[in-house]
Amino acid sequence: MLVYIENKIKNNSQVLSFIDKFKNIDVVYVDNYKNIFDKKMPVWNKEKTIIFAELKWNCLTQAPEDYGHERFSYFLKNSLNCIFDCRYCFLKWAFVNDFQVYFVNYDDMKEEISLSLENYKKLWLKQRKLRFYSSDYSDNLWMNGFSNFVQEFVPFFEILDGAMMEIRTKSVNIQPLLDLWFIPQNTEIAFSLNPQELIEKYEKWVASLDDRIQAVNILLEKWFKVWLRFLPLLPVENYQQIYWEFIDYIKQKIPMDKISSTFASGLLYTKADYINILKKDPYFDIMYLLEENEDGFVREKKEIRDWFYNQFRQLDKKCMVCLDSESG
Ligand code: SF4
Repeated sequence: MLVYIENKIKNNSQVLSFIDKFKNIDVVYVDNYKNIFDKKMPVWNKEKTIIFAELKWNCLTQAPEDYGHERFSYFLKNSLNCIFDCRYCFLKWAFVNDFQVYFVNYDDMKEEISLSLENYKKLWLKQRKLRFYSSDYSDNLWMNGFSNFVQEFVPFFEILDGAMMEIRTKSVNIQPLLDLWFIPQNTEIAFSLNPQELIEKYEKWVASLDDRIQAVNILLEKWFKVWLRFLPLLPVENYQQIYWEFIDYIKQKIPMDKISSTFASGLLYTKADYINILKKDPYFDIMYLLEENEDGFVREKKEIRDWFYNQFRQLDKKCMVCLDSESG
């Protein structure tokens, strides 16, 4: 494995623990990770090349209002790029190359999170939680072996009164969670699920549906807060039959009364992102079923979205929908 490390963080504890853990690596020290990350590199060594760097800008970006549970929330960015390869993913065109970047100045990030929470409490109702969506540009659970994200951030959020973190994942790397010495109250694990035949077609290298269901059930048995995210819902040919069978399967396999909450969303792009994905993948059939909505997003037709939402409300009548009106 080839590892680029910025000089200024060569003594960072996370970097040192990584070097200690992975003996068989080649390390190259660089002044600025962008000297590597902003260059086009061959894709053959994507899984074998990683970068450790300092995040020099904010780790938090405000989510659109009413994005999920709460009116106000933040996306938390601590790493870039994902080992998985979902065909619809915006990461396909977000960066010049595919190397995974791990930002490890965790103390700075924690300070920013604490500050945003303090400001929120001054301005808004104290009884409403401020939500932080992690895995914004990556899959934090999968990457945990390199980042120790769970060990660093789950205990940290536990001491933040009024905050809730979500860790989104399509992996089943739940051991770091099970190894914690407590059951977190301020962290939810959010598993993204789709029918197995669509996983095989559009979500390369992610964990299978059955493996994710098994991980969900293990965490539920241990009283973790688990969230199910049904997204992105894909309007493939015969999608109604495929999703009916999927919902039935979920009902049989997961005790829904133990799930903290559910969330459904179709494909959703800004116009610029939509143009970019079509440039990168002009034969991606599903993209041609999307259209520009009144709200400026490019997404499925309203009747298709409504059909999806109605089905998922039969699974969970409180199922939230992403940046969309309720269809009853
Ligand atoms: S798992 Fe998420 S972040 Fe990773 S490629 Fe798929 S959609 Fe993108």
